[in-house]
Amino acid sequence: MKESVKKLQPYVPEKPLATLQAELGVNRLVRLSANENPYGTSPAVEAAVKNWDFSGSNRYPDGDATELRLAVASQQHVDPEQLVFSVGLDEMIVMVSRTFLAPGDQVLVAAPTFSEYGLHAEIEEATLVSVPTLADGHVDFPAMAQALTPDVKMVWLCNPNNPTGTSETLADLEAFIQQVPAETMVLIDEAYIDFATDAAKLTAMQLPSRYDNVVVMRTFSKAYGLANFRVGYAVFSKTYAPTMQAVRLPYNVNSLTQAAALAAVNDQNFVQTTVAKNAVERTKWEAFFDAQQIQYDRSDANFIFFKYPQADQLADYLLHHGYSLRTGLQSDWIRLTIGTAADNQAIQQLILSYQNDA
Ligand SMILES: *Cc1c(COP(=O)(O)O)cnc(C)c1O
Repeated sequence: MKESVKKLQPYVPEKPLATLQAELGVNRLVRLSANENPYGTSPAVEAAVKNWDFSGSNRYPDGDATELRLAVASQQHVDPEQLVFSVGLDEMIVMVSRTFLAPGDQVLVAAPTFSEYGLHAEIEEATLVSVPTLADGHVDFPAMAQALTPDVKMVWLCNPNNPTGTSETLADLEAFIQQVPAETMVLIDEAYIDFATDAAKLTAMQLPSRYDNVVVMRTFSKAYGLANFRVGYAVFSKTYAPTMQAVRLPYNVNSLTQAAALAAVNDQNFVQTTVAKNAVERTKWEAFFDAQQIQYDRSDANFIFFKYPQADQLADYLLHHGYSLRTGLQSDWIRLTIGTAADNQAIQQLILSYQNDA
């Protein structure tokens, strides 16, 4: 066994809702800990899945995901050959770590951020170098630039960042990228960018065609409501896309998933509705936190990261009242996925009762 995997702290996946619900003995449990889409999935996806031709089950899927590739390329204004699909972005994180890291390399992140970047760096026997974000949750670009040593082979930038929800401007990202050596990969994880107020202006989607070392990653798990189907993609420069296609397992994304993702791309109405509702609810949460003088990071995503003394106790109270939130990312901070209007209101009432009882 590789030395690096012996002491690994695994990513702890969410328990099945029904299991957790039974354990807690609550009638209704709403998961607001995994940033899933609270509005479900597009009816167009449901129709595509139900109409899927089962007779193709004994055949391997289209390894190129041709239809999906063409639809995404046209949606994102990139060359179809720049796209690499994966089994969720999770698999993309594995693939790029495997491709670009060797033992002893360094991986640079702005902390706190998504834990899987560090997990896969560790598996590849690379060292994670964390530069703390600024007090308002934003990336400390000067400090990141200072940390760029010749050993740094990958830099992760999650935009908007998980768990802080904060977003960086494209101008700031590009100014930083210009300081990164051409041999160092810059991976921009845009899992949540659809939720940003000005997503079209924020996205780095066009950078891989101008900077060989830049990669932009998207998932269907969040705004598109397809977390269960496990599909995402990354946009590479034409220099690296063929390498990634060679590393990728040939049939990683199955046909049913390809059909679901294609239908999801073609129903932008569902995505826009999700994003609009989320923005309304996000504003309400900010007003609530402001009124209660609870500190939070200004989010451009579908979750809010807020500070609460003894956060675990509040989270436990909410869990026993039917709402699961994410703790353990930073001491005394909780990440709340923004839910439906009714659930948000109910949680706010619960927080008020909790405060009154305390
Ligand atoms: C949810 C998430 C992903 C992975 O999502 P998949 O479901 O594997 O596509 C990637 N990056 C960040 C920051 C996430 O929060």
